[in-house]
Amino acid sequence: MAEQTEKELRVRKIVQGTVIDHISPGKALIVMRLLGISESTGFPISIAINIPSSKLGKKDIIKLENIFLSESDFNKLALIAPKVTISKIQDMRIVQKSYVSIPDQIVGIVKCINPTCITNKAGEPISTKFTVLSKKPLSIKCEYCGRVMDFEEIMANLIFR
Ligand SMILES: [Zn+2]
Repeated sequence: MAEQTEKELRVRKIVQGTVIDHISPGKALIVMRLLGISESTGFPISIAINIPSSKLGKKDIIKLENIFLSESDFNKLALIAPKVTISKIQDMRIVQKSYVSIPDQIVGIVKCINPTCITNKAGEPISTKFTVLSKKPLSIKCEYCGRVMDFEEIMANLIFR
């Protein structure tokens, strides 16, 4: 009950925007980088790291004033923070609460690990495209060269904006 009240207070501080909750502890900054959101937006951004959580033990939370996430952002979150809940806030109220799931295809989020892949050729304006072979553990296959990448390789080859 106490946690619920606390949560509501945190959310109420935003008039309109997005709250990304239940991020694995210590992952908030990489989530920000992957979403391409920085202080240069000029909007208020709050990042809380290692907050006590009944569900996860500890968690990170990001609050973004005036920023709303796209479907592509949801897919990025699914890769690195599969347990997140995303609340869309309008007029200080949660108007939409979403969960993420790993899509069947991953486009433009991960760089192919194969150096000779066509997507790695200089000047090639091809965006990477992978088919998800397995969601748990995560394993994906490049549509262009067939190279399979595991979770560690995916994390090391995320494309930051
Ligand atoms: Zn490839």
